[in-house]
Amino acid sequence: MTGWQAEGPTQRCCFKCLANTVSIPFYDCYETALWRQTLLTHDMFIASVLETGSYLSEIFNFVGLKHCMINGDLMHCGDPGVLQYLEGIVLYELLVEMGGSISNCRHELHYIVSLIKTASRRLQQHKQPLNNLTGTMVKGTGASSPKLKVKASAARNLLLCLEYMLEHLMPLESDHAQQRFLIVKHLSSMYKHLQSGEGIPSLLEAASCCKRALILWSELRRADIDPNNPHGWQHRGFFLWKMYPKHHLLQHVVEDQVLVTGNPVDHWCYADESEIGAAVCLAATLHVKCLHTSLIRKNRFL
Ligand SMILES: [Zn+2]
Repeated sequence: MTGWQAEGPTQRCCFKCLANTVSIPFYDCYETALWRQTLLTHDMFIASVLETGSYLSEIFNFVGLKHCMINGDLMHCGDPGVLQYLEGIVLYELLVEMGGSISNCRHELHYIVSLIKTASRRLQQHKQPLNNLTGTMVKGTGASSPKLKVKASAARNLLLCLEYMLEHLMPLESDHAQQRFLIVKHLSSMYKHLQSGEGIPSLLEAASCCKRALILWSELRRADIDPNNPHGWQHRGFFLWKMYPKHHLLQHVVEDQVLVTGNPVDHWCYADESEIGAAVCLAATLHVKCLHTSLIRKNRFL
């Protein structure tokens, strides 16, 4: 899809608008953001592709297919996207505040896991999101920013645990700690409004929560840039509170995409993936010789 992978001289990184990394910042989350003036219609998208000579997918030859029908998925923008970044950053900051470092944090992570278990128990979650944490799960090597290695469903459940932990089990003494908590809280509220709310008011509230979280995130991002460092980052050698195009696409999903295709929870990838998981569990109980026919027959009754 043209307009996603930092293309062209402006490094455009969105197929819904002309947001980029140079002149129309994708990380501007405010109501006044320039990209809001550049939302693309079907005709504008096709014209921009033809003008720049970019690749035009064959799917646009399907009769009736419009640009607005190609949507971001809440799960891939949120859970293995923004949530994994957020949870990696929060856990990294917590272990450092406890006196650890990414290469020496076994005791700190052990304590954090115990807090997560406590939060999960008090929230009466069906399954606790994490049994174990290692430094490499929190952050990759080198100059990479923190990003927690967890599955999508675990990221969703962990978000609730982090919200509880930061509010009830940890001190909220500094402005930074409060801002960090509010980002977690607003994103958690966004999911609650999408999953449990009803009608347009819930969708509007979800969009508002997402925007509040991302604005706070962008403030922390700005505070993390060291103007005296040619690479922009602090002496630690990598960015915290970095923003990615997935942050921006999440805003499209809950702000303008809902006006076209409704609540993203109604058509996200979770439903299909749950079905695949159920089929996998069932397949393990069937004889290999008639696996395909038995699975089709029995899976219909799940
Ligand atoms: Zn955009």
